[in-house]
Amino acid sequence: MYYIGIDLGGTGAKAGIVTEEGSIIAKSSVPTKGLEGYEAVVEAMAKLAIKVVADAGLTLDDIKAVGIGCPGSVDDKNGVVYYSNNIVMENAPICDEMKKYIDKPIYIGNDANCAALGEFFNLGDDSVENFVAITLGTGVGGGVILGKKLYTGFNGVAGELGHINLCFGGESCTCGRKGCWEAYASATALIRDTERAAKANPDSLVASMVAKNGGKANGIIPFEAAKAGDSVGKTLVDNYISYVGEGLVDIINIFQPSIVAIGGGICNQGDNLLIPLREYVIPRTYGAGLVPATEIIIAKLGNDAGIIGAAFLAKK
Ligand SMILES: [Zn+2]
Repeated sequence: MYYIGIDLGGTGAKAGIVTEEGSIIAKSSVPTKGLEGYEAVVEAMAKLAIKVVADAGLTLDDIKAVGIGCPGSVDDKNGVVYYSNNIVMENAPICDEMKKYIDKPIYIGNDANCAALGEFFNLGDDSVENFVAITLGTGVGGGVILGKKLYTGFNGVAGELGHINLCFGGESCTCGRKGCWEAYASATALIRDTERAAKANPDSLVASMVAKNGGKANGIIPFEAAKAGDSVGKTLVDNYISYVGEGLVDIINIFQPSIVAIGGGICNQGDNLLIPLREYVIPRTYGAGLVPATEIIIAKLGNDAGIIGAAFLAKK
């Protein structure tokens, strides 16, 4: 049997046919931007899913269940999106609506939680019971696996790791609070800090790289400038690693997972990010040197994590 995994984002939906082992055998995507109401979004996702089933040379009889990863606060037990700001949904009964098109068991989860679930199963390591995945993207997403199960709290919305507090009264966060980890460790925050540094240091390599890029920073510029020996770039990278690292220390102190996987576009920096991050985090965790240390790795599934993880929601 096969599973349909759907990854709903702010501007589009991706769907894939996922095997019992977690491989994608067919996938496709559809734009959802501009669609009004959850009914229209679900209709687009359902049509996409049915098309992907056909693309894979299958029929709905070959499908066991459907999993949907959705941004926002999700009631996984009742199949409802409580609230999602970037696709404008409120108390949307996504699973019931999807069932009108595909009469199979339908499961729903937060997109970052789905990505964590996908990465966890992709480890293929039966000895790992406790695992955390972090995505450093527009925001900072997270998912927590405890005892091999996704931890979602009593209401389904646990695992919002981007909104732990890093700096009391600090930078404004999208959630309305100040000083959240996300406001320092997201790609968005790194870009903001890079633009500020370019403005404050007009003679730096960072400033000239930002100018060459049409006055806009990105997450690559500080790393490239640091590699070229620019002190402003180096400070930006050092600070960024400290911000990401401080949050990771908190998360490790709370959950003591055997593995933390970090994903998102910034992770394309590979060892330039991973090695200094490990050096920062591990000595600062509670009991460092005296207790077994968490392993920090780069997430492996990339953009497919959401589809695979959503399918695994359906597999549970
Ligand atoms: Zn926040």
